[in-house]
Amino acid sequence: MRVLRRPDERGALRTCFVEGEHVFEVPGDEGARELSLVLDEGPDQLVTMYEAAVSGVPHPLIGTALTAPLLRPRAVLCVGRNYVEHATETRAEVSTEPILFAKLCSAIAGPTDDVVLPTAAPHRVDYEAELGVVISRRGRNIAEADAWNYVLGYFVANDVTARDWQVKKPGGQWLLGKSFDTFLPIGPWIVTADEIPDPAGLHITCRINDELVQDETAGHMIFSIPTLIAYISRVASLSPGDLILTGTPAGIGAACVPPRWLQPGDVVETSIAGIGTLRNTVTRALDHP
Ligand code: MG
Repeated sequence: MRVLRRPDERGALRTCFVEGEHVFEVPGDEGARELSLVLDEGPDQLVTMYEAAVSGVPHPLIGTALTAPLLRPRAVLCVGRNYVEHATETRAEVSTEPILFAKLCSAIAGPTDDVVLPTAAPHRVDYEAELGVVISRRGRNIAEADAWNYVLGYFVANDVTARDWQVKKPGGQWLLGKSFDTFLPIGPWIVTADEIPDPAGLHITCRINDELVQDETAGHMIFSIPTLIAYISRVASLSPGDLILTGTPAGIGAACVPPRWLQPGDVVETSIAGIGTLRNTVTRALDHP
């Protein structure tokens, strides 16, 4: 299944499913509910919604405006330096344990929304194409061998980062440097795990103005999805709808010579073959002097 959210003609968000080139809307009150709340009732609820939707009227996918599939996840957990070449390009050691941080869900943006260069940090904003994972059910101390049973599906993410805040603010402000509004485009939909039998084969790319800047397969992660789920759940209970961003491959702007920071007018295309593409235009904040 491919589940997305889109605004209806009155601007109210509706849950829909993609089948081929068509979109089927979930009818009634159920289709209006925030997806995090639906997922909280278990993965079966998604199947029920799918069955109700696909018996309805198809709408063309082309031309459908999409929002982020999830707007209020309980947690957005992110992994730093999870590809060897990316760790090397940042002149960091390859870590022996996963490096975890979080983003605020207020940073979430839709698959075609603008990424806004913030007034407080407009000069060193960077892209990070990543494979995102959606958690399906509650769990703590999850064994690696059991971890796939906690994966609902996948999405494309861009972990946009203001490097000057991340690196130069006191203590290294990873949370805030990565949580300016619009710094987390996700989507274009959630593809459920049954459609992706081998996530290690997923091909992640990032293009800026059609120039390929990141190009990697998810199988080259240092810490695999099951390892990450096991590691995180030793500390924190995972809940349905929680998001895990699995880290970015090499090719970030900070590692280019000279550095390549996002500029107003840039079009950033973050893609994972088999899932979809985010296409976000970079803009300057309206209150920028
Ligand atoms: Mg990242």
